[in-house]
Amino acid sequence: IYILGIESSCDDTSAAVLCNDTILSNVVASQKIHEDYGGVVPELASRAHQSNIVPVVNQAIKKAGITKSQLHAVAFTRGPGLMGSLLVGTSFAKSLAYGLDIPLIDVNHMQGHILAHFISEDDYLKPPFPFLAMTISGGHTQIVKVNRYFDMEVIGETIDDAVGEAYDKSGKILGLGYPAGPQIDKLAQKGNPKAFKFTKPKVDGLNFSFSGLKTAILYFVQRETKGNPDFVKDNLADICASIQYTIVGILMNKLKLAVKQTGIIHIAIGGGVSANSGIRAALKNAEQKFGWTTYIPKFEYTTDNAAMIAIVGYLKYLEKDFSDFNVMATARLKI
Ligand code: ATP
Ligand code: FE
Repeated sequence: IYILGIESSCDDTSAAVLCNDTILSNVVASQKIHEDYGGVVPELASRAHQSNIVPVVNQAIKKAGITKSQLHAVAFTRGPGLMGSLLVGTSFAKSLAYGLDIPLIDVNHMQGHILAHFISEDDYLKPPFPFLAMTISGGHTQIVKVNRYFDMEVIGETIDDAVGEAYDKSGKILGLGYPAGPQIDKLAQKGNPKAFKFTKPKVDGLNFSFSGLKTAILYFVQRETKGNPDFVKDNLADICASIQYTIVGILMNKLKLAVKQTGIIHIAIGGGVSANSGIRAALKNAEQKFGWTTYIPKFEYTTDNAAMIAIVGYLKYLEKDFSDFNVMATARLKI
């Protein structure tokens, strides 16, 4: 079974071709234009998707070594995401599936981040059910109890900013470009994680909060630069390491609580922030320390990609869970 996946929920235009659960191609065109603005500009993202989508899809099919006529279905991201961005992928997927007379399959982007673990790779363990998935991305921070492929329960989530947003906004305060997450991660590896202390938010249960941390960092930087205008420059690696230490601590504390509440010790992570070296190391450590089994996605399946959309498409194809052609892009879509 050949499935074409299309992802256009935010600022990456991506297309992938799967043969059953094996990746044949996964092409991602990242939009550089947003760097100048310090964040994603929705209207510009939508326009860039329009110019990227045809070449990206063509390249994915070509790289896969097949022709369009061999495709069995087209899967696309229906939501959640930016409306203008989602509309480009949705309209394109509809016309392609209609033209080829094959099924159309709508995919929830967050289910994609979770089910990316079911892509077949060498040395790549698929989590057994039930498992806990922590999705940590630019727009979401959730702990999800995954009972079956399409039986998922959100048991905790952020009440304000997402963890990726916390990284990006902290980076902005430090004068780093967008997206700042990967840069903070890199700098953190050269710094002292205990150089500065930021208090962790107090949120009951399995929910998260990150907006207070961003404010704490802002006040901290404002206070310190009064005494030393070069404070940030002089201490950048230590500040980044301390931010990372705080964030990873918050995530791990909630995971520990989730394990305690559910008794589930199979832990998968997904979303852009799962590329982070700090959280990856903490999870590996937890395998030794708490006896958890952890599932960490390959780097290319962490940030937005169409391979994860195609794998959900394949799993839905097996269940003949096809979409009506009236299906609409949905900016706010629950798991
Ligand atoms: P969502 O999936 O919630 O709709 P999104 O698709 O915009 O949001 P992703 O592409 O999954 O988000 O992730 C992007 C985020 O991941 C950005 O905030 C980026 O800073 C962050 N990120 C990427 N790599 C790292 C890293 N190594 N360390 C920390 N954060 C990172
Ligand atoms: Fe995403």
